[in-house]
Amino acid sequence: MEEPRPSLFDLDLEALPVPSPGQGYRRRQLAEWLYLHGARDLEAMTSLPAAWRRELADGYDLDPFALVRRFPSWDHSVRYLFTLRDGQRTEAVYMPYAGRKTVCVSSMVGCPAGCAFCATGALGFGRNLTRGEIVAQLLAVAWHEGFAPRELRNVVLMGMGEALLNYEAAIGAIRTWIHPHGLAMSPRRITLSTVGLPSRIRRLAEERLPLVLAVSLHAPDEETRRRIIPTAHAHALADIVASLHDWQALGGRRVTVEYTMLDGVNDRPAQAEALVRLLAGLRVHVNLIPFNPWPGSGFAATPRGAVRTFEEVLTRAGVSTSVRFSRGRDTGGACGQLALRDAGGAVADGVGHRAPRAAPSLT
Ligand code: SF4
Repeated sequence: MEEPRPSLFDLDLEALPVPSPGQGYRRRQLAEWLYLHGARDLEAMTSLPAAWRRELADGYDLDPFALVRRFPSWDHSVRYLFTLRDGQRTEAVYMPYAGRKTVCVSSMVGCPAGCAFCATGALGFGRNLTRGEIVAQLLAVAWHEGFAPRELRNVVLMGMGEALLNYEAAIGAIRTWIHPHGLAMSPRRITLSTVGLPSRIRRLAEERLPLVLAVSLHAPDEETRRRIIPTAHAHALADIVASLHDWQALGGRRVTVEYTMLDGVNDRPAQAEALVRLLAGLRVHVNLIPFNPWPGSGFAATPRGAVRTFEEVLTRAGVSTSVRFSRGRDTGGACGQLALRDAGGAVADGVGHRAPRAAPSLT
């Protein structure tokens, strides 16, 4: 199995190499080939000197993926299964909403949070992705779908992994996406999803990036939440909510609360009322996510009528709420299901995903 080499996508735009001192304009040209034109190999960068291209090829990889598999869905979304250069696998989903191409990307192989309803959680933790592997998921989608990378409008860091536990790589990737010589995306169109790590949320607030922060609460009380997210005992709900107040006090935007609806677990009207009380005083939008069942999950989806009743309790209380139906159900459903299925349905059996490593602490 190949060991990963440094990728040009790992580098800050300002740290891209130049052939010799005083040739800063070559850095700009290289960035244009990477992020404006979406060149897939160095040979295609014909405005760069051939000798320098060979030098770059000796030192860096461009495409960090050994194999890319596409799984188009009837609803026009496309799931991507990436085999990385060390044989590990991760996923992304391309959603071609009219006029606003969106990609859901991963920050890890597997995930240490272990949410009980999530196929990625069942895979365990593989490893952190590098900055380049996160950045390049967008480039790979553009390459394979056949459009220029800057046509992408929205990114959601909501695939495999807890992005705030791979902090440097995730924030580095975001900095490449928003850099005017990178993908020149608006940070307002980037959503970072977290299971709720108070110290990391406060650190993120200090970055003063106008991102959309999405927090996966899934329950309004500790007991129910621990049933859904067994690792949730690391942080009290009150502390998570306090960190969201801090986020907004430092200029952070409205928070999106992710709430996966699980039949008989967290979907009663009384729980909707408790959620209203928990979120009082915060600017939030609640996304109710009907559960997308997968074999072995042990949960069932809340019936549509009960989802609507839950939604009504929230909206009557003045909480902005919507129901989000997931895309790509026929191609592997929610995140992690492709990798799980590709590994023969077994959990971390070494086929698609090596045995889990010691997971990073959620504290
Ligand atoms: S839902 Fe998100 S945080 Fe939870 S295990 Fe899955 S990928 Fe990790």
